[in-house]
Amino acid sequence: MALKPGVVSGEDYKQLVNACKEGGYALAAVNCVGTDTVNGVMEVAAKNNSDIIIQFSNSGAQFYAGLGMKDAFQAKVLGAVAAAQHVHLLAQHYGICVVLHTDHANRKLVPWVDALVTQSEVYYKAMGRPLFTSHMLDLSEEDIDMNLSECARVLSRMAKIDMSLEIELGITGGEEDGVGHEVDVDADNSHLYTQPEDVLKAYELLSPIGHFSVAASFGNVHGVYKPGNVQLRPEILRNSQALVTESHNTAKNPLNLVFHGGSGSEKAKIAEALTYGVFKMNIDTDTQFAFSEAVGKYVDANAKAFKYQIDPEDGTPYKKQYDPRKWLRAGELGFTARLDEALVDLGSIGKSIAG
Ligand SMILES: [Zn+2]
Repeated sequence: MALKPGVVSGEDYKQLVNACKEGGYALAAVNCVGTDTVNGVMEVAAKNNSDIIIQFSNSGAQFYAGLGMKDAFQAKVLGAVAAAQHVHLLAQHYGICVVLHTDHANRKLVPWVDALVTQSEVYYKAMGRPLFTSHMLDLSEEDIDMNLSECARVLSRMAKIDMSLEIELGITGGEEDGVGHEVDVDADNSHLYTQPEDVLKAYELLSPIGHFSVAASFGNVHGVYKPGNVQLRPEILRNSQALVTESHNTAKNPLNLVFHGGSGSEKAKIAEALTYGVFKMNIDTDTQFAFSEAVGKYVDANAKAFKYQIDPEDGTPYKKQYDPRKWLRAGELGFTARLDEALVDLGSIGKSIAG
């Protein structure tokens, strides 16, 4: 059944996740920091008839509210709320399904997620749906029992208002917006690979509570590194699915898996991961660079307009070139072109289930 275009949650979100897994494709989850990137994501999704995930890190949400806001915590909460309201208003008019999500929250950021769930509880009372589709808790630095019990606590709150939780098991290398882990390429990197036994433990504890997804580590790293430092091993995803299937006699690919650190990954490994129930791949580093690269080219091509309002020699006015809409749009077009490419890799083009 086709879904109403706009932000999805609850049963509609489950239907979308299942459509991805059954169709062997994944949705791009794009980190956004303002209206330029948010609107760019919806533009790409609409143009390609693809559903999409818009997500905010804590500092992305803070930037959305404005770095001039004195109370940083308040800005992280209200920026996320403002961004969500922006997307709720516009997404339906782009004609595709949008998943609204927040990215990594470690122990220090649990109060941020709790505050956002409170915001969704209030919104749910008024609108019958949550503000966000899902949030992520990344407690992979904690021991597994502490990680899972805290996830269970937050998911209990979220399940009551049709929200889903993304958890992290094992450690994604690299750093994203101050949350993450340095990779020592010479050290034993076994912590970069999720243990299927931990995934089974998560399934047994969380699936009775509500809908959840797992960011499993299979050698993936945030950011772009020289190739060869860490080996991607997507078979870890396959083995995790198999262990849950055998232990609980479920249908194929019972877990909803998420691929972090997709930037710079080999395309064949991405394709392999998609066959193991990966429905979401995060993209940030590559789209950030694409935006800035395009702005850089614009500035190079219009160098004088960034120094003078009027040409000091011949009096030419440069207003049309330095108008921020011109170079911001140049950035948006670089960003959207890179995102087009990601949608090809993830196989989501033409697959929107919005009707
Ligand atoms: Zn990540």
